[in-house]
Formats: sequence, C-alpha cells, structure tokens
Amino acid sequence: MHKATIKELSARLAARKLSSVELTRHFLSRIKALNQKYNCFITLDEEASLGQAEAADRLRATGRGQALTGIPIAQKDIFCSRGWLTTCGSKMLSNFVSPYDAHVVERLNAAGAVNLGKTNMDEFAMGSSSETSYYGPVRNPWDVATVPGGSSGGSAAAVAARLAPGAIGTDTGGSIRQPAALSGICGLKPTYGVVSRYGMIAFASSLDQGGPMARTAEDLALLMNVMAGFDARDSTSLERGREDYAREIGRQARGLKIGLPREFFAEGAAPAVMKAVEAAVAEFGKLGCETVDVSLPNMRLSVPVYYVLAPAEASSNLARYDGVRYGFRAPEYADLPDLYRKTRSQGFGWEVKRRILIGTYVLSHGYYDAYYIQAQRVRRLIARDFAEAFKRCDVIAGPTSPTTAFRLGEKMDDPVRMYLNDIYTIPANLAGLPGMSIPCGFDAAGLPVGLQIVGNYFAEARMLGLAHQYQLATDWHRRIPPGCDA
Ligand code: GLN
Repeated sequence: MHKATIKELSARLAARKLSSVELTRHFLSRIKALNQKYNCFITLDEEASLGQAEAADRLRATGRGQALTGIPIAQKDIFCSRGWLTTCGSKMLSNFVSPYDAHVVERLNAAGAVNLGKTNMDEFAMGSSSETSYYGPVRNPWDVATVPGGSSGGSAAAVAARLAPGAIGTDTGGSIRQPAALSGICGLKPTYGVVSRYGMIAFASSLDQGGPMARTAEDLALLMNVMAGFDARDSTSLERGREDYAREIGRQARGLKIGLPREFFAEGAAPAVMKAVEAAVAEFGKLGCETVDVSLPNMRLSVPVYYVLAPAEASSNLARYDGVRYGFRAPEYADLPDLYRKTRSQGFGWEVKRRILIGTYVLSHGYYDAYYIQAQRVRRLIARDFAEAFKRCDVIAGPTSPTTAFRLGEKMDDPVRMYLNDIYTIPANLAGLPGMSIPCGFDAAGLPVGLQIVGNYFAEARMLGLAHQYQLATDWHRRIPPGCDA
C-alpha cells in the first residue's frame, strides 16, 4: 500500500477498495516502526489523523470525494495547523500550538486530505541539510549516515521512505528541490504568489513559497490543484483563475525547447551528478525535445545576493519572537530588555543567530545602500537573465544540487560550503520562477541525483507534463531506499 502513488491510492479509495482509516493506520504504523531511524516527524497525533480519515471516508461514501479525499499528507512543521504543535524546528516555538490553519492547510482540509503529522526541518527553514533542527537531524533513507537535504528534509525523507505518499514543504532558496534531489523524490516550488504564504511561518517573505513533494509529477499536480489559489490574507497572493495543473500530463514533449544554461553545465557539480543530468537531457532528446544553449551570466552572483536579502528579511521577520506574545520565554530575567536578550539567546540556534546578525548588519545605517540596495539591483539582473533565456526556450534544465547527499556533520562548521549547495536552486527564487526537481539517476554509492527543471512564470503545468513524459520513459522515481519496500 505504501508503494502506491497518490493517484493510485486515490483510485482505490474512490472504488471503495480501501478506506482512508486503513490507509492512515498503515502509514502511522510504518512511521512508528521507522521514524526512530530517520527522525522525519516532530509531531504525530494519531487521534487527529484518524478523525480526519473517518471524516474522509464519510465524505467518500456520499460520493463527494475529490482526488485527495482520504489521502494522508505529511506537513512540514513550518505550516500552522490548528490544534497541532507547530515548531518550525525551533526551541523558540517548541510550546506553540497553533490556534489557526495556514491557507494551504485549510485547502488540504477542505479537500478531505488527512494530516499525517508534522515533519522535521532546519530551524526556521535555514539550512540545506535538516541538521539545524532543535529536534535533531533527519537522516537520509538511502544512507542514514548522510543528510536528506534541507530545509524540508523531514518531508523529503518521509516520502522517500514511504512513510507518507506525499508532503508539503517550503522553498526560499531551494528547500523543496534540494531535499527532493538528495532524497530521490519529486518536488515543485511554484511561481512566487501562486501558493498563499498565510500561516506559513515567515523566513524571507519575498522568496518563500510553499509547494508539493511526492514521488511522481502526476502526484505533484494533484497536490498543486489543492494548494494553489488566491488568498486575500497574503498581500503577494496572485489573483488568477483556477488552473488544472494536471492538464498537460498527457501531452507529448515533442517540439519542446529545453534551454541548457552554460553556467549550469560548467564545472562545479560532481561528475556523477553531471553524468546523470546529461543522460536525462539525452532522454528529453528521445522524447522529441530540442535543446538550445542559453546563458545566465549573473547566476554566479545569486548566492551572495541571496545571503544579503534572505538574512535581511529574516532579521525583520524573526523580530517577533520576543518571549512576550507566544512561544518560548526564558525562565529567569531581570527586566524587559533582559527578557528579550535571554529569550532570544536561549531560544534560537546558531544558524538562526548568524542570519539575524548578518541581516541587521546589511540593513544598518551606512551599509544599507552598499549591501541591501545593491543586492536588490543584482536580483533584478538575475531575473532579466531568465527573461532573455526564455525568449529562446520553453523550460530550462540542469542539476538541482552540485552533489548527492553529503555526510551528517560534514558541512556543519563551514557555513559557506553549506550555502553553496543552493547555487542552482537560488536563482529561481530570486526571479520568482517555478522550479522542480525529479529523480534522474544515482551515483556510485547508490545516492540519488536530481534533475532541475525551471520554467517561465506560471509554466508549472507544462513542467509537470514534461516531467511526466520523462517518468513514463524512465524508472528512477520508482526506486525504493534499502529496507523501505517491505
Ligand atoms: N538553504 C537555503 C538557506 O539556508 C535555503 C533554505 C530554504 O529554501 N528555506 O537559506
């Protein structure tokens, strides 16, 4: 049952061959057996999940079920879910039970999906390895000595280990795509503004975007159909008509122009990664796609630009954690300034503190123009590079991450090396473009490689269609980590 895709499970539920209660019980028992090994979940609430499953079965019985009705979906612990502990991987929110639902959670609930549990993540989504969590590191199901990627590593590892058929994550600089790549699953970061950020705990608001994680492009489309949509409570939510993200699933890829940015294929990525990505590009050729060389000349500036803008926004967003309103409060303090100081010193981990320091520095008087404004200008140039490239191609392809999964602890004391992991994913966030990662091979150690597809604004359906054609022709997405098939 855990090997089936969302689409297959949905068909079984619709045919009444399976109930959501059975399905949810099955995944919960797998989680109980395997979560110790991977540490994917921070919070489980069996009663709440099974309650939703029963309601979904009743809805199905009346014939009002939709594709996701009764499907258990794991939620990254950055999404506020009413009545659930919502920690964002931080001690700061280790006692925060959300009084309300994020927009995405509301939509999943309305569609009858079951919240299977809240997944582990880098603290406040800052990281590329899921090691900075207050709840301990997540482990990669393909090799538990390696990281699953981050920050949505709990969601990625849960889907990879077949502890959940699908999950939701967030991507500020690659946090859906990079863990999808390192864990051998599929993940989509939509166009900025397509998925509401309401109730999604803010990291860097101009970059944050929620999106689906699953094992096939088809399943991503089913999740997108529920997650996407206008929400007046997010001022950057886009007012667009409803869209069927599965509408191009059956469409041939023939004639599609795939742009290969020189900078994605220059040295930098591990040879095994490049080999798998090049083989995937060749497969697109067999599907009738054309390839064209394009260039993103300012891409090399994206990591430095990101590490000015994201910390700047984070330092402002994280100012709300003061020990007064909600969340953690230092147990002892002398006066109000001391309460702030102790709460923030004790409540935040090192990576979060580093970002707050960088952010306040680049926003401070005298440095604002040199760093923040300059970074905004370069951000514009990066977006313009993509606009030029998309005059000549329909989608862009390349690696998602320069390496496969690295070992736990390997990059923890070298933040810059950790930051460079996102070199291929950050440009899409800076430009607000949709990007996805799909499995496209393995290295010699048996660790998965991800292929990144970046599209023009609102090209999600087309990207999903292309990915689906690739998945019809290949079986990388069907591989199961050792010990997860039984
Ligand atoms: N790894 C990047 C960072 O640490 C991106 C994280 C994300 O996308 N949330 O900021």
